[in-house]
Parts: sequence; C-alpha cells; structure tokens
Amino acid sequence: MVIKPKVRGFICTTAHPEGAAREVERQAAHARTLRFAGPKPKAALVVGSSMGYGLSTRIAAAFGAGAGTVGVFLEKPASDKRTATAGWYNSAAFHRAAAADGIYASSIDGDAFGEDVKRQAVETIRRDLGRVDLVVYSLAAPRRTLADGTVAKSVLKPIGQTYRNKTIDVESGRVSEVAIEPADEAEIADTVKVMGGEDWEAWIDALESGGVLAPEARTLAYSYIGPELTYAVYRKGTIGRAKDHLEATAHRLDERLRRHGGRAFVSVNKGLVTQSSSAIPVVPLYISLLFRVMKDAGLHEGTIEQMGRLMTDRLYANGDVPVDDDGRIRLDDLEMRDEVQSEVARRWREVTSENVEGLSDLAGYRHDFLQLFGFEVPGVDYEADVDPQVPLLPA
Ligand code: NAD
Repeated sequence: MVIKPKVRGFICTTAHPEGAAREVERQAAHARTLRFAGPKPKAALVVGSSMGYGLSTRIAAAFGAGAGTVGVFLEKPASDKRTATAGWYNSAAFHRAAAADGIYASSIDGDAFGEDVKRQAVETIRRDLGRVDLVVYSLAAPRRTLADGTVAKSVLKPIGQTYRNKTIDVESGRVSEVAIEPADEAEIADTVKVMGGEDWEAWIDALESGGVLAPEARTLAYSYIGPELTYAVYRKGTIGRAKDHLEATAHRLDERLRRHGGRAFVSVNKGLVTQSSSAIPVVPLYISLLFRVMKDAGLHEGTIEQMGRLMTDRLYANGDVPVDDDGRIRLDDLEMRDEVQSEVARRWREVTSENVEGLSDLAGYRHDFLQLFGFEVPGVDYEADVDPQVPLLPA
C-alpha cells in the first residue's frame, strides 16, 4: 500500500513505517555519540515510550547508556483498513535496532493507568532484568479510566477567566484570535487526575512493593513552564495545575527514595512539536516563532538532543544533579534565555496571517508534525508500496 498523510486538525490518521524507522535510527545514531562522565543507567522503565520525549528517553538510555529497557505505551497495530499508529511503528523500529545492537528491550502495549499493566511491567522486570535503576514517567494522555470504571478527561483551559490571544491554524497558516472559556472545578480536578503525579506515584509503589526498584533508582517525570504569554492557558491553566501536582509528587517521592540512595525529579523540557503539544491552543504559534528564533541563533534542539543532555549533563553528570531553586532539572534553559524570549515576544506582537511565514518557522513546525507520523523523512520513497503490517517484535 502507498501511504500518504491524512491530517485531521491536530492529528494525522495514517503513519509510515519506513519513515518512523528511519527517524528512530537517526535518534539512535545521536544517542550512540553520548558520553557519560558519571554513572550510567543499567535498566530503565519508560512509561509513555512510543512517541515524543518518552521515545527519545528510551533511545538515549538504550543506545547512549546501553541500558535494557521496558517500554509502556498505548498504540494500535495495523488493521485491514488502517495503518498502525506512529508509536507502534516507532516501537517496532526500536526493537529491531535494540536487537541488532544486542540490547535488551521489551514492551507492554496497554493502559498505563491500570493495575494490570503495572503488574505485567513488574513481572517482566523481575523475570528479565531483576531491578530497574531508572524510571521515567512520560505519559501524555487525554483521559484516564479510574479504578471504579469512571473516566477523567484532561482539558486545556484557563482558570478563573476567559483567555484571549492569538492562535494559528497550522494547516492554513491563518492567525486569528481565540477565546477560551475557563474550566470549572470538576474539569480542573479531572485534569489533575489524568496529568498530575498520582499515577506516577502508583507506578513507584507497584515497583517498590514488587521488589523491582533498585535502592539507588532515579525517577523522573516531565514538565513544561514556557513563556508568560502562554501562562493563562498552560502554566496557570488546568494543565499547569496538573504539573504543580506532578512537582509536589516529585518532592514527596524524592524524600522517600533518598532514604535508600534514590532520587526523584521533575525535568522541565523545551516546548517541541509532539502529538500532545499540537493540541494546545496558542502553543503551536509560540513554538513556530520560537523555532525561528532558536534556529537563527543556533540554539535549536529536538527531543533526542534534549534527552541526550538530560542523561549526560544532568541526571548522570559527575557530582550533584544540577537543579533550580525548586529542585527541578531545567532543559528549557536555552528556550528561556532572555534574548530568545524577548525576540519571540516582539514577533508575537507583530505576527499576522500575512507575515507569519517570514516571522516564524511555520514550515519547520509543519515538517516536524508530519515527521512525528513518519512523513517527510529524508531518503524515504513515499510513492513506493509498503507493507503496513509490522510486528512489534522482530522474528
Ligand atoms: P506524546 O504525545 O509525544 O507521547 C505520549 C506517550 O504516552 C505515548 O508513548 C503514548 O503511547 C503514551 N500514552 C498515552 N496514553 C497512554 C495510556 N493510557 N497508557 C499507556 N501509554 C499512554 O507526549 P510528549 O509531548 O512527549 O509528552 C510527554 C511528557 O512530556 C508530558 O508530561 C508532557 O507534558 C511533557 N512535556 C512535553 C513538552 C512538549 O512540548 N511536547 C514540553 C515539556 C514537557
């Protein structure tokens, strides 16, 4: 079958297996250049390992540090009518590359919020690795089914008052004003249930009580802060409440794990094009402007460069892990530089549908978005017939 992108709003309903594989190989090649000055992770569990930051974390741990990895994700294989999801193809490519390098990998495709998947992960670790010394929680989910069967949905809304600002329709390039009504209390609480730290802590509980968490284990979850102009819809909105909860969870877990030599952190990463960030109003316009400014200044990074720095310059640097005043690892240091932010703010004031292509890197945004699904990857013949049926594990 010849596979073309089918974009519907902020998702692409098709994915290309060869493009996904090449992108995983490119990231693995970067990871192989990583040099660790301090200790390295030996065995890692990555929850949310098939896309975005979680995928790059898994690649950095496996091909940078040589760590065995257990990955957890929620993806779909191909059916008669549909291609597999991009995360499925990424994970299949990851398994092939790990097998070729003789690096242990196993994956669990299922709902990470559920008890069953946690139990499967504990059993897999016990059987194959003994213990994990790195646990990364990189889930970005729109909903969570709770133990009683009810479903909590996360929303991306401001709190307290209506938020008005510029936004962009990425496909057409039209810049317009968006008004987002504030969330009610139930929506805030639901977003915290889905994207806060409760499930991260439940994972650590399950690993600890299953006896598969190494005493010196490090665990981290990812967060974002971003510029003032997105505060109302991000950091001070519903998702920000969830991130506050995640950070409070990190402090609690850190206290607990330190008792036997472990650590817990939140890492604040750079704003990048992922399936999740493209769904947030206002953010794609900010990211398009940011990319232009950071690329022009030679400061741009993608998820693998960020995760490479996380491993070698932060989490496994020689000596203490460098953190900010609130105990957070900061990988958004380049994004948040004054000269970058003031230039983005200046462009933000000026940007319209007419000048957006010149002021921003909208083309780069669109390219990165398609690349998430295996399209526009250099060297792939998109006119060629490909088999959409790809097994997760190599034969
Ligand atoms: P993503 O959408 O690229 O990936 C999400 C992952 O979660 C996928 O592997 C998916 O399969 C998995 N997943 C979702 N629901 C699941 C479920 N119920 N069970 C099992 N797996 C499930 O996300 P991302 O943008 O890489 O975000 C990961 C984390 O990084 C989030 O905490 C996010 O807030 C944070 N972050 C993102 C950005 C950004 O700009 N994208 C910046 C800073 C921090």
